[in-house]
Amino acid sequence: MQRGDSWILSLAILAFPGSIGAAPNFTCVCVGPYCIGGTCVGVACFASAVWDSNGGSTTSKGCHNTNQLEQCNSHIEGVMAVKCCYSQQCNMDLDVKDGPPISDPSASNLPLVILLPLVILLLFGLLIGLFTWKLRQRNRKRLLSQLSHMGDADLLKASIVGDSTLGDLLDDNCTTGSGSGLPFLVQRTVARQITLVECVGKGRYGEVWRGTWQGESVAVKIFSSRDEQSWFRETEIYNTVLLRHENILGFIASDMTSRNSSTQLWLITHYHESGSLYDYLQRTSVDVEGSLRLALSIVYGLVHLHVEIFGTQGKPAIAHRDLKSRNILVKGNKQCCIADLGLAVMHSQNGDCLDIGNNPRVGTKRYMAPEVLDETIRTDSFESYKQTDIWAYGLVLWEITRRTVINGMVEEYRPPFFDVVPSDPSFEDMKKVVCTDQQRPVIPNTYYSDSTLSALAKTMKECWYSSPSARLTALRIKKTLNKLNSSAAIPKQEEC
Ligand code: ADP
Ligand code: MG
Repeated sequence: MQRGDSWILSLAILAFPGSIGAAPNFTCVCVGPYCIGGTCVGVACFASAVWDSNGGSTTSKGCHNTNQLEQCNSHIEGVMAVKCCYSQQCNMDLDVKDGPPISDPSASNLPLVILLPLVILLLFGLLIGLFTWKLRQRNRKRLLSQLSHMGDADLLKASIVGDSTLGDLLDDNCTTGSGSGLPFLVQRTVARQITLVECVGKGRYGEVWRGTWQGESVAVKIFSSRDEQSWFRETEIYNTVLLRHENILGFIASDMTSRNSSTQLWLITHYHESGSLYDYLQRTSVDVEGSLRLALSIVYGLVHLHVEIFGTQGKPAIAHRDLKSRNILVKGNKQCCIADLGLAVMHSQNGDCLDIGNNPRVGTKRYMAPEVLDETIRTDSFESYKQTDIWAYGLVLWEITRRTVINGMVEEYRPPFFDVVPSDPSFEDMKKVVCTDQQRPVIPNTYYSDSTLSALAKTMKECWYSSPSARLTALRIKKTLNKLNSSAAIPKQEEC
């Protein structure tokens, strides 16, 4: 299949949108790290295998949507193979592991409405495809800097410009479909093109490096092999359909690489040179508008995480479970994005499915909600996890407002509960302060001289109720802060 072919299909979709809508949907078996719940729905079911240089293979099963059909039955000797079929659960016994795919007789079931426009537009598409390919080569240097405005599909296209062998596979909307096995290959290709430059951060579970990819900075989080569960979980969450949002750290690739004869687990994301909100607040004070902007952008990200989007291309609801200023990054436009999803849990109302992962990691004690500290949290209810995020959000809000200049004065940065617990507090230290003594961070009276800060103070307090269900929801906070934003006549942020 040639690069230009994806254009043919795109044009077919544009020309015959109704016909695409009429294509049947099949429930398929879904096996692979991008799968949630073991099944998915698409216009074709597939089985794929990707071989590494040692002859080992990674197999996946899942669904292709209309945009991905051209991947069906592709095969690159020793690299990858994909087979598709077109009936309910037909990929259950479909196997590509033992060799190249043979032509699938059920492919004749491919709806005529898709094939017909393909034929009609063949010549036209080839011409446009060739032209576009040339244009893309010229733009390759500029592509990565535009990533924050791109979807996954665009990113994947960017990653393989100039590589004609992989181009057949990667000129597709790989990661927006459910359960596709192909992104592994794409992500590995990106990872191998990265040069590590400097270590920019250390968390409890990994080192974060600034690296370069085609001359542009990217962040590379390197997990040690014993933290495989965190790497796996974060990879799984970032690959969740529709997770992309300007206030969630932009994911680029995830890969297992062998460097200096040891296995390293990499997670590659957009790089933000201001670093974490924690680092930022150490060195920078903000004005009232600035603090509202930071607070709003975080809650925008949190709402996007917490909300479930329904439909085959939807997203499950996600609770972060380790929200804190070190896990929030400050972008160049002084908005924040939420990072470090290694502890997140997912929930989908369809079948009331709660996916808490398999990660032994626990949250940060200083930011733990009272019900986590006294162990009364209802671990079987997804709502509980969202409510712990809200508690932590209130603490982050407190950290931001503390660094806000009021009447020309500003406090030093301090972490929440700095005045009542030691620098690395134990679980028991936190439990005594938060549960037994019912202490909350102090809100100075000076906040009440400013209407925005008073509202932020009220919001924090409503995040800190002992009773989890009494706390505000992320959506409520977003609405309140948005109102504040418009009444303060600050240019309104985009609704998500
Ligand atoms: P961990 O899971 O080990 O806690 P994090 O993802 O929280 O790792 O990252 C640790 C630190 O690395 C962050 O607090 C921040 O200082 C820095 N960091 C992480 N991601 C980025 C990024 N994309 N750009 C710049 N700095 C980052
Ligand atoms: Mg972290």
